Amino acid sequence: AKQSKACQRYFFFDSTLSEKIQRKHKLEVMLKNADFNKEFQLYFQPQFRITDKKLVGAEALLRWISPSEGFISPGEFIPIAEETGFIFKLGEWVVEKALNQIKYWNEKYNLDLRIGINVSPLQIENTDFVNKMRETIHYKEINPEWVDFEITEHVAMSTQVSMEEVLSGLASIGVNISIDDFGTGYSSLSYIKRFDIDRLKIAKELIDNIDDDKNTLLIVKAIIMMAKGMGLKTIAEGVEEPNQLELLKHLECDEVQGYIYGRPVPPHEFESMHLD
Ligand code: C2E
Ligand code: MG
Ligand code: MG
Ligand code: MG
Repeated sequence: AKQSKACQRYFFFDSTLSEKIQRKHKLEVMLKNADFNKEFQLYFQPQFRITDKKLVGAEALLRWISPSEGFISPGEFIPIAEETGFIFKLGEWVVEKALNQIKYWNEKYNLDLRIGINVSPLQIENTDFVNKMRETIHYKEINPEWVDFEITEHVAMSTQVSMEEVLSGLASIGVNISIDDFGTGYSSLSYIKRFDIDRLKIAKELIDNIDDDKNTLLIVKAIIMMAKGMGLKTIAEGVEEPNQLELLKHLECDEVQGYIYGRPVPPHEFESMHLD
């Protein structure tokens, strides 16, 4: 009896594992054959200054709607794109689209909005990234202050010397650098000080709990106070509740991004909701 139980367990795990592998393989093939301009779209989520609710920027978020599978979340396909190296092509496409969009909006409406662009570690580890960005931004005649590269915390904290070079290279172009999902990893503000960073994006995981967990509130308070001391801006991610917003206002967090003020939407919708 013991043995058969073990067998059942074995088969159970084996089948879900093989399902996962099949799904992954399927997405790999689909990614390779995807018609970018038909299947991918950038959505935009607004970012507001907390004190006066002024629109200050938008984060570009990639959406994949496959003809056969429908909506596939970036949480699922970005890691696959990274593993297969497909992220380079995809990342270039995102940068191109995002820069064109922000130039169009800022010129049309005479604004200085920032565009938040998520960049994968692989993309920026490539030292050519800095040169490419410098050229592209110059060529497109984009104000570098309109550009905000979002890099996740563990990437920025990696001990690689090249990362320090890349970040200072980006800073020399004059673009913004934000640390995404701040507070979920081995956050060390003193370490971060080594880099030329503009902004901390306080992770949704922390924001979710500030209104019901005293310790989380204290952590967020400490992050904001230390960031201030270091001349860094703070933006809270994933704010959904008025309670959370009130607390962040009280703690003098600079900016907010979350469903409370706007979800990620396609460009035409962003324009009619937030710009027109
Ligand atoms: P992220 O960069 O931390 O983006 C924020 C995520 O939080 C987005 O999920 C956004 O839709 C979601 N969000 C914002 N406000 C709220 C809220 O109030 N409530 C809730 N429940 N969620 C909120 P999304 O679009 O699914 O993206 C997930 C992750 O995929 C991103 O996390 C980012 O790491 C990655 N990603 C998305 N687009 C790109 C891209 O173009 N390139 C790269 N390399 N990664 C991307
Ligand atoms: Mg982001
Ligand atoms: Mg984030
Ligand atoms: Mg993230």
